[in-house]
Amino acid sequence: MSEAVGKVDVAGNLARIRGRIAGAAERSGREPDEIRLVAVAKTVDAARVREALAAGVKDVGENYVQEAAAKRDELGDCARWHLIGHLQRNKAGKAVTVFDMIQTVDSLRIAEAIGRRAQALGKTTEVLLQVNTSGEESKFGVGPEQAEGVVEAIAGVSGVRLNGLMTIGRWDPDPERARSEFRLLAKLARRLGERTGFEMEWLSMGMSHDFEVAIEEGANLVRVGTGIFGPRSL
Ligand SMILES: *Cc1c(COP(=O)(O)O)cnc(C)c1O
Repeated sequence: MSEAVGKVDVAGNLARIRGRIAGAAERSGREPDEIRLVAVAKTVDAARVREALAAGVKDVGENYVQEAAAKRDELGDCARWHLIGHLQRNKAGKAVTVFDMIQTVDSLRIAEAIGRRAQALGKTTEVLLQVNTSGEESKFGVGPEQAEGVVEAIAGVSGVRLNGLMTIGRWDPDPERARSEFRLLAKLARRLGERTGFEMEWLSMGMSHDFEVAIEEGANLVRVGTGIFGPRSL
């Protein structure tokens, strides 16, 4: 292992993050092991991802299909890989081969593209519906008011299994500013579950600066990058 790899204390960072996850889980009346941690590895090289895996990480998140494919080739089948970046339809085929879960489905069309490619491989891909809870124009995701219609449409698509919702909170140094958005997503998941009968197992929300607030509001899938791997250089 090179010296550079050791500069960031990945195992130590993970231990601290896990402690904070446990605290937030307790505040929300849940057990720490009900919260799944996705280690977000965009721009992080395979050697550092391997350190995280050695420290017990089971889920890796990536924003780009090609980058994930390269790392997964290098590291082998050692984790569940999550796509957390926007997916273009022409990448759906590759994405289906690389990822165990695609968290960024935001239209019927992309769900159909994923489903077609998954079926061709004889599999079903687990997906989450990305919801734009902050209303910011820069964000992908369906509006909260469109979610029910899109969920019902995706329910009829073979080759995908919709199993929850994902959102990105507004970026603000004060994580409390995103709390109402996380609360909105949790409420939406409950309502959709009741009205559509669709199982909504996962609520993916919270990043390095706001995952505790997200957990307090019901997240059970948090996506933490810099908190584990240190600041990104790119
Ligand atoms: C990069 C990214 C993360 C992780 O962000 P950090 O602030 O580094 O924890 C989480 N979710 C999404 C969608 C991302 O793009």
